Amino acid sequence: MPELPEMEAWRRALNDPVSAFPIARAGPAHIATLKTFDPPLAALEGRRFRGVERRGKRLLFPTDDGALVLLVHLMTAGRLKMLPAGRVGPKTPAFGLELADGSKLVLTEAGKKKRAGVWLLTPEGAAAELAHLGPEALGLDARQLGEILRREARRLHPLLRDQRAIAGIGRAWANEILHAAKLSPYALSTDLSDDEVDRLATAVNGELARGLELRERGAGDDRTYRVHNRLGQPCHVCGTPLAQIDFEEHTIYYCPECQTGGRVLKDRRLSRLLR
Ligand SMILES: [Zn+2]
Repeated sequence: MPELPEMEAWRRALNDPVSAFPIARAGPAHIATLKTFDPPLAALEGRRFRGVERRGKRLLFPTDDGALVLLVHLMTAGRLKMLPAGRVGPKTPAFGLELADGSKLVLTEAGKKKRAGVWLLTPEGAAAELAHLGPEALGLDARQLGEILRREARRLHPLLRDQRAIAGIGRAWANEILHAAKLSPYALSTDLSDDEVDRLATAVNGELARGLELRERGAGDDRTYRVHNRLGQPCHVCGTPLAQIDFEEHTIYYCPECQTGGRVLKDRRLSRLLR
């Protein structure tokens, strides 16, 4: 799933082209993708986007008259791109709209499951839709992070991925961040020392900034991730083969030497612990 670095790189790339011309035609939209019906999509036509904003893993396209906000959540497999005028796009995009110059904003989704979502909202509706999100991960300082960690005892990996606690981090960047912080994915948030909280805050900002810089330059997963999806490959810090813990829906990657004091975590025991 695209996370903060990926979404922010897309936001920056889409900001100018999407606001260059008014919207000529809004749609088509797959029935499972468009989550709202009032206001209708056609209400966008004739208006112009002010640009693109981002909140956590969501992109927001506010109109420049302040009346409407198009909100997009790509989930796992959604991809958003701008097609220049005259370029043939996908026949049945999950969502699309056309600007007055003929360029198109197109959302596609690989696979059969339609999970990505598009909402057309008033600014108040958009604020309500985003109200549950925690503070942005990028820019979080050690004091703010310390407050979040000490609120309740939770394992670090699921806590970092909880959008209500911190917005923008998912499975991949949680792996990268915890490795950079030299912390176990299942350490308890309330057990961290002040030094460890500092280290984690530094890792959150350092890793997300590193990811954003790479993604802006068009780097793929291979060049971006150093821990995520690298089972058995040598840790880039100590050379120990990286290990994984499997869960039903995802996998945690970590370095036993850098993060868990040489211990290899057992899958079954940990699935119970982390549930
Ligand atoms: Zn290591």
